[in-house]
Amino acid sequence: MKTIGVLTSGGDAPGMNAAIRAVVRCGIYNGLTVKGIMRGYQGLIDDEIEDMTLSSVGDIIQRGGTILRTARSAEFKTKEGRAKAAEILKKHEIEGLVIIGGDGSFRGAQLLSNEHGVNTIGIPGTIDNDIPCTDYTIGFDTACNTAIDAINKIRDTATSHERANIIEVMGRNAGYIALYAGLAGGAEIIIIPEVKFDIDEVCEKISYGIKRGKLHHIIVLAEGVMSGLELSKMIQERLPKLDLRHTTLGHIQRGGAPSVMDRIIASQMGARAVELLLENKSQRIISIRNNQIVDDDIDTALAMRKEFNFKLYELSKILSI
Ligand code: ATP
Repeated sequence: MKTIGVLTSGGDAPGMNAAIRAVVRCGIYNGLTVKGIMRGYQGLIDDEIEDMTLSSVGDIIQRGGTILRTARSAEFKTKEGRAKAAEILKKHEIEGLVIIGGDGSFRGAQLLSNEHGVNTIGIPGTIDNDIPCTDYTIGFDTACNTAIDAINKIRDTATSHERANIIEVMGRNAGYIALYAGLAGGAEIIIIPEVKFDIDEVCEKISYGIKRGKLHHIIVLAEGVMSGLELSKMIQERLPKLDLRHTTLGHIQRGGAPSVMDRIIASQMGARAVELLLENKSQRIISIRNNQIVDDDIDTALAMRKEFNFKLYELSKILSI
């Protein structure tokens, strides 16, 4: 193997730059030529490819986003699009491709390998932490830290005014950000897609809290359940006297300097991706499980189901009584 490529695909996540840096620097350290592919699979199809040097990844470990940009590509979902992508890889003599993204991006990689024999390695990068094979995805820890920073600030003003606040966090169809940020931020109520929603239970808990003299109520809501506005309306119908506000954190959760944990995981995963390609391994997804960097066959990884940490959810309920 002489030349490898790296791209970021799907939603961006803090720490992707640290992973790119690790792929480029470990690749060059091992005598490889590393090419950066701009704008995910679409950039690959459009031949937006640049040679990476040691300095092209200088001063990026601390930056959120991705210097390679990211995109979603409808064209890559077609057989013709993938054939074009494979041709471009051949033209640049790229023998191994590292894909940093979510499970959609991995499905794309799986097809590219199966149809055109491209050596692919996937690195999980998404703030949602919704990739089953790994305990943590790059970006999740930073997004949770951003969310608790916002929760802390909202809690200050909620306490001063003796208000209830709904904080809607991201996570797509998963409740990991809500659960982790909710527990770490001391939320009274956490609403996530993995647990059946019961509006009466929510209102009872708020009423109970008022009776026991709580000065604020922090309700962390995962976007996969409903919007903050919808929940606010449902609560106000039942508790019209409650002073209630809602905040949608939105895209601030996708940006910012990556946390230590995200930088370390990303660096390890990027390095492992290069090692795997040098070992002539292909169609592998890198994960972190039980604090170990591991890798699985892409078919196995994509077929895994993530067990939601209900114990953590139960703990959050106990700690917020
Ligand atoms: P995130 O979880 O952050 O959204 P993701 O990788 O799951 O990341 P997607 O939009 O699902 O994001 O996928 C990114 C790109 O990967 C798509 O735009 C498409 O080009 C490619 N892709 C996704 N699913 C497939 C598929 N089933 N077949 C081929 N390509 C796919």
